[in-house]
Amino acid sequence: NQQLSDRVNKMATSATLAMAAKARELREEGKDIIGLSLGEPDFTVPEFVKDAAIKAIQEDYHAYTPVDGYRELKQAIIKKFKRDNNLDYKLSQIVVSTGAKQSLANLAQVLLNKGDEVLLPAPYWVSYSDIAKVAEGVPVEIKTSIESDFKVTPKALEAAITPKTKMIMYSSPCNPSGSVYSQEELRALADVLVKHPDIIVISDEIYEHINFTGQHASMAQFDDMYDRTVTVNGVSKAYAMTGWRIGYIGAPEWIAKACTKMQGQVTSGTNCIAQRAVITALEESPSKIQYMVEAFKSRRKLILDLLSEIPGMKTNEPEGAFYVFPDVSSFFGKTIKGAKINNATDFSLFLLEEALVATVTGEAFGDPNCIRLSYAASEADIVEAMKRIKKVLSE
Ligand code: PLP
Repeated sequence: NQQLSDRVNKMATSATLAMAAKARELREEGKDIIGLSLGEPDFTVPEFVKDAAIKAIQEDYHAYTPVDGYRELKQAIIKKFKRDNNLDYKLSQIVVSTGAKQSLANLAQVLLNKGDEVLLPAPYWVSYSDIAKVAEGVPVEIKTSIESDFKVTPKALEAAITPKTKMIMYSSPCNPSGSVYSQEELRALADVLVKHPDIIVISDEIYEHINFTGQHASMAQFDDMYDRTVTVNGVSKAYAMTGWRIGYIGAPEWIAKACTKMQGQVTSGTNCIAQRAVITALEESPSKIQYMVEAFKSRRKLILDLLSEIPGMKTNEPEGAFYVFPDVSSFFGKTIKGAKINNATDFSLFLLEEALVATVTGEAFGDPNCIRLSYAASEADIVEAMKRIKKVLSE
C-alpha cells in the first residue's frame, strides 16, 4: 500500500510469526498440524512467579511505572548480573523493557544513523536485520557454516569490518543454531574488536540458562570490552514467560540513558504486575528453573536421534537454546511427492503441507541451506513430527 511509509513497506513480516499464522490457518481447516516453528517454551510459569504476580495485583500495583523499570527490579537485575555473570552494573546502567525485542529495537534506534553497518554473524535471530533496517542501518551478514558449528571466526569478523561498521549483534546461545560461544572463542573475537574501538557489541543472552555446556560467557566480562558492550537478557525463555514481556539491558550509562529517553516517548515503562513478578523470579536461584533445562536437554537428544535416522538431513549438535538447525540442501533440486524443492523455503512449506509439521525456513535467519525446528514441544509431538517427516521424505 503506497499510503504506508517506505519504512514499513520495506520491512519483512517476522517469518516465525508468519509460519505460526499459516499453521493456525491450516489447523482451522481441520488439519492436525504439529507446530515446531515457534521459539516458545511449552511449560507454564513457575508457581512462585505466579504467586508474586497475584500478590502484586492484591497490593494494588496499577500505576505507570518508571520508564526504565522499578528500582527494586533494577536492583534484582544487578544482583542477577553479579551472581550469574560476574558483571558489575549500577542502577543507571539498567533499563527494563517490554521484552528483549524492545531492548534490541531501542538499541538500534539510539545507536544507528542512516547507512551504519550492523554485523550479523549468520545464522542470526530473525528480527535482527529488520530491527537494524527500521533504524536505517544496513545489516551485513557474516556467513558461517555447519562445519564451524555456525560460529563466526575472528578472521571472518575482521574481514567484514569497514569504516561504516557501527555494531555487531549476536546471540549466544544462538537462535537458531543453538551454538554457544566459549569464553576463549569470545576472547578471540574481542581481540579483533579491540582494534576497532568504535564498534559496539550487542550481546543477546536471552538463552543464557538454556545451555547444556554448563558454561555461559559474556562479552562484557572482558575489561577491555565492558565499556562498549550491551548485555541483553530477559525472562521469556528461561522462565517460560514469553507473554509477560520483560527484557532488560546492562549497558554503558550513556547508552542506557538514551534507551530510557527513546522508550519514554514510545512505550513508557513496562507492565507493573509483570515487573513485580520478575523481581521474585530473578531473586531466586536459577536452580529453580533447572527442571525445564533438563527437559530441553532430553528433548534435544530425542530430536537429534530421530533426525539422524532421516537421510539427507545434516545437523550439528546444538549446545543451547531449544532449536535444531539442519542443513537440508541435499534436497534442493529434487522433486518429492510432485513438489519441486528449490530452496529451504520450499522445503519448509513442503513439510507443512505434506507432513503437517510447521518449521521455519533458514532464509529468514540468513542461512538459506537450513531449516529451524524448535524442540520446545512435547516429546510426543517431537516423535510424531519426526515420524511424519521421515515418511514424506522417503516417498
Ligand atoms: N533474542 C532472541 C535471540 C530471541 O530468540 C528472542 C525471542 O525469540 C528474543 C530476543 C526476544 O525475546 P523477548 O520475548 O524478551 O522479546
